[in-house]
Amino acid sequence: MGSEPLRVTELFYSIQGESTRAGLPCLFIRLAGCNLRCTFCDARYTWEEEGHLMAAAEILAWVEQTPAVMVELTGGEPLLQEGVYPLMEALVEAGRTVLLETNGSLLLDRVPDPVTVIMDVKCPDSGMADRNLNDNLPFLRRRQRRGCRDEIKFVLSSEADFHWARRLVEQEDLTATVPVLFSPVRPLLAPTDLAGLLLASRLPVRMQLQLHTLLWPDRDRGV
Ligand code: SF4
Repeated sequence: MGSEPLRVTELFYSIQGESTRAGLPCLFIRLAGCNLRCTFCDARYTWEEEGHLMAAAEILAWVEQTPAVMVELTGGEPLLQEGVYPLMEALVEAGRTVLLETNGSLLLDRVPDPVTVIMDVKCPDSGMADRNLNDNLPFLRRRQRRGCRDEIKFVLSSEADFHWARRLVEQEDLTATVPVLFSPVRPLLAPTDLAGLLLASRLPVRMQLQLHTLLWPDRDRGV
């Protein structure tokens, strides 16, 4: 592949811990750099450290060592790097199920349809809610009509975040478009408190806990 190299934080094989695919084995390509600074960021090392340059062909060779397994591009913010687009195309062409975790601040217009987008909507307590790109919601609707299987994730730090997210889900009728996931920031919002709020709201939203942090609570990288 002749595309420009990518700045990589880490490559690892683990259990997919978030999204409706949680629990499945997954190869993770974690790219360096992020344009946001969320208050709760648990991946600061992706933007505090430079990472290392890798050619797309090297990344693909690493993926090929583990046949058939799903691949997730994450960060940081993967869409900041131009080389991510040909890499996604190549992974799809190689027959992989490809997931893209993105922070919702960049337009998704160049993401190939076969790639599953897991898009964050940033809540007020993240400090980054003004960076949500509103154009992405109609764009996800159009992708859904084309048969894409995207998902939207809210990471909630407080009860106030929950009510903000609930209002947006209702106003935009998001659950009619894509699976919607609510995930608590521990210890700021206790999972049982989020469960109670969700039950009372009766929203058809899926609550999720980060499975990898339950499995490996002492590891902050490579999971
Ligand atoms: S978007 Fe993700 S990687 Fe970037 S600062 Fe927020 S939590 Fe951290």
